[in-house]
Amino acid sequence: MTHAGYVALIGRPNAGKSTLLNQLVGQKIAAVSDKPQTTRFRIQGVITKPEGQIVLVDTPGVHQPGYELNRRMMSAVQEALMGVDLVCLIRDASVSTGNGDRFVLDLVKRSEKPALLLLNKIDKLEDKSALLPLIDWYSKEHEFREVVPISALKNDQTNVLIDSCLRHLPEGDPIFAEDELTDQSLRVLVAEIVREKVLHSTGDEIPYVTAVVTERFEEVREDFARIYCVIVVERDSQKKIIIGKGASRLKDIGIRARKEIENLLGHRCHLELFVKVEEDWRNKEQLLDEFGLSGN
Ligand code: GDP
Ligand code: MG
Repeated sequence: MTHAGYVALIGRPNAGKSTLLNQLVGQKIAAVSDKPQTTRFRIQGVITKPEGQIVLVDTPGVHQPGYELNRRMMSAVQEALMGVDLVCLIRDASVSTGNGDRFVLDLVKRSEKPALLLLNKIDKLEDKSALLPLIDWYSKEHEFREVVPISALKNDQTNVLIDSCLRHLPEGDPIFAEDELTDQSLRVLVAEIVREKVLHSTGDEIPYVTAVVTERFEEVREDFARIYCVIVVERDSQKKIIIGKGASRLKDIGIRARKEIENLLGHRCHLELFVKVEEDWRNKEQLLDEFGLSGN
């Protein structure tokens, strides 16, 4: 009998969610958007093993409430947690505990879902006994099914993690065929890659004010696609930062994003990026809906 189900990975920014996701899923991202079960969250990756299947779903970043966007995001987090079978709380074990950690822990508690505690970045710890006070703190706060120390970056103990997840998922057949991949989900994945590159190359100058939309995705040939993405910012000054001197930064973002998109697609693509100013888009309901950030 195999095990299968939905798993949410939740943690503070910088905990290592994206790194872990990339390690676990590699290039084998099989995202599906046309199945009724998947409407409440975005699937980030599917890991299929002889023992079963883990469907990793996205919980949008955990931010402090404030903007309309963040309010929606918070309810999106809670909504996503409601629909999953297992929650993995990922924590950077190399930094001390802060308010953000308590906030994330509260979300996990409130979800009342079985949860695993992932203590990440163990490669940074000289002495592994530094984990003990952390394990102690968390286990006093909540009954985690398992504590799994990992290094997402070094891909250390990630197989142990996969086994643990499978053990705690309900018995059942795989939910998705191994290489199901729809156009819609590809568009979202592509936009997410571009957004990540924007954030990487702009550092703190452009904090969370970007949305990226894949406007066109043309499969020109079986082995070549033409993709148009729009990067939306709130102010002209932000547009200037993203474009950079002589468009150098935008070019750089494009090159990095294209490499990763080509890996994802398994073939070459032409990627065109546009930067558009939409004042105050974070507070505009209609735009949020267009960007797929609807809270309901
Ligand atoms: P996210 O915000 O939770 O998605 O975190 P990221 O995956 O973007 O990781 C944030 C930073 O931590 C990046 O610089 C990663 O390279 C780094 N990082 C993630 N996992 C590990 C790890 O296991 N060990 C070390 N040393 N660094 C890590
Ligand atoms: Mg991330």
